Amino acid sequence: MDSAAQAFRHWRRDEARRRQALRDCAAALRARANELGRVLTQEQGKPLAKGIGEIHGAAFWFDYTASLEIPVEVVQDDASKRVEVRRRPLGVVGAITPWNFPVILASWKIAPALLAGNTVVIEPSPFTPLSTLALGEALRSVLPPGVLNVVSGGDALGAWVSTHPAVRKVSFTGSVSTGKKVAAAAAPDLKRITLELGGNDPAIILPDVEPKQIAERLFWGAFENSGQVCSAVKRVYVHEDRQQALLDELAQLARSVKVGPGLEADTQLGPINNRPQYERVCGLVAEALSSGARAVAGGKPAGRDGYFFQPTILTGVAEGMRIVDEEQFGPALPVLTYRDVDDAVERANATMFGLSGSVWSSDPQRAAEVAARLECGTAWVNQHLDILPTAPFGGAKWSGIGVENGKWGLFGFTETQVIDIAKG
Ligand code: NAD
Repeated sequence: MDSAAQAFRHWRRDEARRRQALRDCAAALRARANELGRVLTQEQGKPLAKGIGEIHGAAFWFDYTASLEIPVEVVQDDASKRVEVRRRPLGVVGAITPWNFPVILASWKIAPALLAGNTVVIEPSPFTPLSTLALGEALRSVLPPGVLNVVSGGDALGAWVSTHPAVRKVSFTGSVSTGKKVAAAAAPDLKRITLELGGNDPAIILPDVEPKQIAERLFWGAFENSGQVCSAVKRVYVHEDRQQALLDELAQLARSVKVGPGLEADTQLGPINNRPQYERVCGLVAEALSSGARAVAGGKPAGRDGYFFQPTILTGVAEGMRIVDEEQFGPALPVLTYRDVDDAVERANATMFGLSGSVWSSDPQRAAEVAARLECGTAWVNQHLDILPTAPFGGAKWSGIGVENGKWGLFGFTETQVIDIAKG
């Protein structure tokens, strides 16, 4: 914390230098993408191509962020005065990240925080500290001392970051329950906070859809990273006329994907990352099955050493079952039916989660109108999970406070200052 506070005094002064440093970070990550990707796969579990892809994704984010403007907006300039709105850095940023995408989610925080002139202390999840430590090691050669600090340890360290007096802003990604603790911990010191929290994303399939055409995209919208994605599809609402055809398509995909260790060449889905999460997914699926749900694919552990779970498609599910009402964060997808679109929208919104959602139709315009009625930060049409560096990403309701990415994410690492100059 001391070294971040010291570094801030100089780092804040030279915007052009910071911009160049971000580009150098991108180059440093690309140069070591294979090595870092392997570390990520070994501790997180995702297929190696995805691990390496995540490092390239982070490099892309650094490069893109380097191109963002920190604007000086002039709101009045006449004979009497000139009034400018500027954006100042906040100081030391405490960044706290989860275990599902440790590197790219770190880059969403580090790159804009540094561009704005802040310095960073980042605490990775205790389940995946190594790839963030390796990231810090890679960036050490291009960033001045103290500008970026990676500190790994247990959960208590996250609590320490969110209460430390040197920290002026906490940027947190993780679960709703921990997010609430961070908000409470930051309040007495009025630290600024951005919270990117969990989701229970609905996908509404309109009756005009041909299930065969959307099944693959929908499947990967739910099962990417073995379902361990904040904004994965976590509940499907399909019109009852299309239910059977969609279940058949999804079940076939679920049975055909290759589940295995991330370092095995043909693996498409890795294991669940850690034992508590594995046990949670096993429990949610078992509970649904014993309450009347039926698995049209999967339904149990994959029967090999490790936290492998069969990709699971559930029917006969309903609101009131935990697999529907809670965030499962694993490779199990409940498929619910509806008759009336208004009813589907109401049920999709009947939750305190509000991260993202999607609507699927052969008429994208009609789908966009339904999508706009979803109470969430991002509503996709005929796709799910396409997160962009250019657009703000964040959650409504309990899924978060504030946003990341694009100029909106950058502004979250700044405070406005008005310079009001009297003339004459
Ligand atoms: P988590 O809340 O258990 O942990 C997240 C981080 O918080 C870890 O680094 C942990 O060490 C730290 N932490 C633990 N206790 C803390 C405390 N009292 N104060 C401060 N920090 C503390 O979450 P997780 O299990 O690592 O991640 C999964 C969750 O993250 C899911 O709910 C998922 O939806 C969410 N997530 C959200 C986004 C998003 O952008 N909205 C992205 C990825 C994951």
